[in-house]
Amino acid sequence: MRKPVAPFPFASGTTNRFGRSSLGGGVSAANSNTRVFGPGNPASNAPLVGHHRSTTVNLGLNSERSRGMMIQRLRNQGIQDERVLDAMMAVPRHMFVDEGLASRAYEDAALPIGHSQTISQPWVVARMISAVCENRVPVKVLEVGAGCGYQAAVLAQFIKEVHAVERIRGLYELAREHLRAQKLIGRVRLTFGDGMAGLPGIAPFDAIVIAAAGIKIPQALLEQLAIGGRLIAPEGTTAQRLILIERTGAATWHREELESVRFVPLRPGTQS
Ligand code: SAH
Repeated sequence: MRKPVAPFPFASGTTNRFGRSSLGGGVSAANSNTRVFGPGNPASNAPLVGHHRSTTVNLGLNSERSRGMMIQRLRNQGIQDERVLDAMMAVPRHMFVDEGLASRAYEDAALPIGHSQTISQPWVVARMISAVCENRVPVKVLEVGAGCGYQAAVLAQFIKEVHAVERIRGLYELAREHLRAQKLIGRVRLTFGDGMAGLPGIAPFDAIVIAAAGIKIPQALLEQLAIGGRLIAPEGTTAQRLILIERTGAATWHREELESVRFVPLRPGTQS
């Protein structure tokens, strides 16, 4: 699936680009499909010349440095949960996007993953996971909208049982491939299906993260939350907001509205 491209263009001097898309006040433009194929890093389109061994050797080191910068930026944006920061430091986000976009993997931006979908912006991933894990150690977590598998990989760094559902066949397969490459298949259980129905055979979940925006949070998912568990989801169509729900009893849920965000839509059914 991956085709060889130019040397991994992480170089010193990219600091400004990394800071560029960080928006104040925690407001994010997550999962937007815009601007991604525009004039990006010229290096990413460079012909494959001079790609010798030292470039390859530097690849790992450079991506680690870029990830370190991403973590520092997340801290500056208010992310404090060390489990989440450690997990995001451990997962090579550039391996979850097309190689032509790898140079942009550590920017705070959503990037295309095919099928008109996007990998979520790092801040959004960090914010959602931090919110559902606050003051708790969830054991069983459900992600609706696995996409390319990145968020599931982050969750799997410190959560024992991660279940992720994806409705687009091609992305389900892509997520599978990425998670296998990271040796996380087994730790993450992927399902091809409509995540709006949840996974009733596996529920209850200590936490549920919905990575696509619906008009309303599906009741089936609220019902599959353990008492004391938390769910986070973007809600709305053009204007969207992150909603944090805590199940407080058998028939009671507490709802809190968080930041404005922008996600791809939550859709019913599956697409082969
Ligand atoms: N979690 C991803 C984000 C993927 S974007 C990441 O780590 O970056 C959101 C994904 O939700 C898309 O792949 C889309 O196909 C999927 N999606 C939308 N509605 C869905 C549904 N009802 N069930 C499962 N997946 C859904």
